[in-house]
Amino acid sequence: MSLYIDLKYINYISSRLPLFKRKSDYLFNFRCTICGDSSNKKNKARGYFYRVKNDMFMKCHNCSVSIHFGTFLKQTDQMLYSQYALERYANVTPVNKPHKEPQLTFKEPVFEKKNLLDELLDRVDTLPEDHPAIQFCNKRMIPKGKLSNLYYIDNIADIEQLSEKMKGRIKSKEPRLVLPFYDDKKQLTGVTCRALDNNPLRYITVKIKDELLVFGQDVLNPKDHIYVTEGPIDSLFIPNAIAVSGTGFNKLELLPYDRTKMTIIVDNQPRNKEVCKVIENIIEKNYNVVIWPQTQKEKDINDLILAGKSPSSVKSIIDKNTFQGLQARANFFAWKRC
Ligand SMILES: [Zn+2]
Repeated sequence: MSLYIDLKYINYISSRLPLFKRKSDYLFNFRCTICGDSSNKKNKARGYFYRVKNDMFMKCHNCSVSIHFGTFLKQTDQMLYSQYALERYANVTPVNKPHKEPQLTFKEPVFEKKNLLDELLDRVDTLPEDHPAIQFCNKRMIPKGKLSNLYYIDNIADIEQLSEKMKGRIKSKEPRLVLPFYDDKKQLTGVTCRALDNNPLRYITVKIKDELLVFGQDVLNPKDHIYVTEGPIDSLFIPNAIAVSGTGFNKLELLPYDRTKMTIIVDNQPRNKEVCKVIENIIEKNYNVVIWPQTQKEKDINDLILAGKSPSSVKSIIDKNTFQGLQARANFFAWKRC
């Protein structure tokens, strides 16, 4: 019962706690109102309510305060605290005995900490349905199951917290969708941040480690057939797909994957000289490559999805139009328009 009352009062005061967010049933995160959290970092939120048995506690990772929820409430709103104390302790504590705060046996709050990104950013699948990042993903019909691989940042300038080299380099402050890159050992190597609007600077990419940025390696099964796309978002629609994030397919030479088990998917741009050169190069290196049907107007996988194709029918278009060697060359020359 006492736990229920704690949660009820957390709910009452939640609207007064900046950046308040429910992380799980018994874990809440907000900007610490005791120390003010950070004076210059407006998106810092290092205060937590977390559960130990039948009580909720408050802890701040900035000022290191560590107190029972009741104590926090008392400091925040004396009136509300009186009501809380009455409700919580009236039945369990004889009125003539002063109530003792439960002994603090502090345990670090347990929150799903996948990596540095979980600490600094919001994972898209934890955001409310009407959030602009979710709306962006819905508009592009990104599968729901993939949202846990994506993040959201309120202010792109804060991305400098990921890398010393970025300090002071980003001048704008807009929100963005963050697509993380990992190496084959699941270590974060960088991120690319997609504008949510028509910002002419569509992607801002930040390297964290001096390694190749290839999207999707953290969830890749290298023993299965591997699909390789240009854009990270396109790769989300195809099973076991990675993205080179641009047309730098040369990167693949440096990855530890079997090239005979790879299909390279370049965007459908038969009039783009650069793209044609890239495909020629891929054919020369004897990769399996998709030469899109000449009747197809859509530029990439996401366009096909938006035109009403299901991910599985897009995959079968890809598989039907995958070629290698001489056959790839013949189809490529028929396809190209430059
Ligand atoms: Zn604090």
